[in-house]
Amino acid sequence: MKLIFERGQEGRHLSILPKLDVPAYQPDEALLRAQAPALPEVSETEISRHYSALERRAHGVNNGFYPLGSCTMKYNPSIDEEMAALPGFTNVHPLQAEKTVQGALEVLEKMEEKLSAITGLKYFTFQPAAGAHGEFTGLLVIKAYHKDRGDEARKKIIVPDSAHGTNPASAAMCGYEVVNIPSASDGCVDLDALKAAVGPDTAGLMLTNPNTVGIFDKNIEEITRIVHEAGGLCYYDGANLNAVMGIARPGDMGFDVMHLNLHKTFATPHGGGGPGSGPVGVREDLGKFLPGFRPVRGEDGELHLAQPEKSLGSMRSFFGNFLVVVKALTYVTMLGREGVLEASRNAVLNANYMRKALEDIFPAAFPVTCMHEFVISLDKLHKETGVSALDAAKALLDYGIHPPTMYFPLIVHEALMIEPTETETKETMDEAIQAIREIYERAYSDPESLHHAPHHTVIGRPDEVTAARKPKLRYQKEV
Ligand SMILES: *Cc1c(COP(=O)(O)O)cnc(C)c1O
Repeated sequence: MKLIFERGQEGRHLSILPKLDVPAYQPDEALLRAQAPALPEVSETEISRHYSALERRAHGVNNGFYPLGSCTMKYNPSIDEEMAALPGFTNVHPLQAEKTVQGALEVLEKMEEKLSAITGLKYFTFQPAAGAHGEFTGLLVIKAYHKDRGDEARKKIIVPDSAHGTNPASAAMCGYEVVNIPSASDGCVDLDALKAAVGPDTAGLMLTNPNTVGIFDKNIEEITRIVHEAGGLCYYDGANLNAVMGIARPGDMGFDVMHLNLHKTFATPHGGGGPGSGPVGVREDLGKFLPGFRPVRGEDGELHLAQPEKSLGSMRSFFGNFLVVVKALTYVTMLGREGVLEASRNAVLNANYMRKALEDIFPAAFPVTCMHEFVISLDKLHKETGVSALDAAKALLDYGIHPPTMYFPLIVHEALMIEPTETETKETMDEAIQAIREIYERAYSDPESLHHAPHHTVIGRPDEVTAARKPKLRYQKEV
């Protein structure tokens, strides 16, 4: 397929710009570039066909099943997009006078109320642009809390090995020493290991719950108690709240700080790289450390922006990705209390339906009731047939199914992590189950064909190592 730069002719263009209705402005000569940029010169039809062709080569939730674990590739209602496209939201400027943007501020106020009801934490900031950015923000809140109390000896963050990879990375970015603790044989945090790890140097614990093997930690209250008794704070990675929202609240479990991914659980599509939103919630007394400005209702009944008393400063410009918040608010408002609960229940039901249906060939790494996702190991299949998790994942593409997450979490060999999401039907899951069973049988009858799968996609097996090590991110015009 030709790149957009390889299409078109010099001088070809489309005239869709309206006539200039303000005086033309001639910038200073010194500011002008010496050469015109090498932009493609194409017609509107060429552009339109080019992007449609690109779209056909990609797999999205509109093309088929997309059970990418830990990513929540679910259907997001288009009404959320419509609300976020309203000119009243898209045409506002962050520096506009407060009284002219009361509606936008109300969105932030209302979303904080909703998230507070869902999580049990009092205050939220919407500045963080993604989940990992939220983790970093939350950890800075924990740091500020200890510093404010004059306790500077707390230099360690405890992270179980079943945590999402961003957790230890964020803690390290924040200048903390990361203490990794192993999981017990049931996939939950090993309480003895936790007790041995906490002490006067513990700043806090970061827990991904449900964890990366899809398990809700049954000792969760005991875990937060142990950390609190040692003087640390508890951070909840709530990136995937699909199984939990409306059912259980991190605040009630004893967590002090958390983030959510609006671009996973709350209706912003992702996978293309953004925009995202990773709001951070904190318990009441930590609100004073939050970054940015929060809308506060004054005695005049209007919303005013106020910086929290001991604010961290700013994690990002203005109010974060505001339109993502508009989508999330639309989503939870449309669902209502019952709908939110039903979404969670269906996420759990779907994951357990698939887990059970595959159990005889691929038992889950931890064979207990899972939350919104589960992890299977292809270790046995690999040893017996040479067919790896990668081969099986690639083979699924020929069935029109996006592969599950591969080789993650690291604690499971030949792992495939499957998240059906709440919006898939039984028929779709049955087709996927059938496809996985067929691949299993082919592994024994014709393993060779699987080593070369997929056979029917535009690209088969790109050289992923070279792509990662030497990425070509820029078009270089041949001269
Ligand atoms: C996706 C995810 C993150 C990171 O979120 P980003 O928006 O990709 O930065 C963190 N924790 C968990 C559990 C996740 O699933």
